[in-house]
Amino acid sequence: MLKKIDHLGIAVHSIAEARHFYEAVLGLSCEKEEEVASQKVRTAFFSLGETHIELLEPTSDDSPIAKFLASRGEGLHHVAYRSTDVEEQLSQAKENGCQLIHETPIIGAGNKQVAFLHPKSSHGVLTEFCSGEEL
Ligand code: ZN
Repeated sequence: MLKKIDHLGIAVHSIAEARHFYEAVLGLSCEKEEEVASQKVRTAFFSLGETHIELLEPTSDDSPIAKFLASRGEGLHHVAYRSTDVEEQLSQAKENGCQLIHETPIIGAGNKQVAFLHPKSSHGVLTEFCSGEEL
């Protein structure tokens, strides 16, 4: 079952440059920066109420984020929904005809279980399910 929007993922060329907007303009504070080797990204999380903004910067040219930036430029990359059971969420999506990027959850930022649905199955928005452990 989904509980809330956990975070919005935003692809950027440089967290060092992008954080000015989130800190100085929006007044948010960075809670955490973390490199996620499995995804070849560096992430920075900003808290706003019950949700977060996740900036994603590629750490290598074959990172999925590098490919996204090359084809679409900076911008909204994914919407992440907090789920009480990521595996159950995935099988429900699959039963309903969705194409999955991950058949089983992987470990993502903050040591959460995460899994992605293909954007072709979700009307153009890359969709993430993540488990509920707090950052
Ligand atoms: Zn995410």
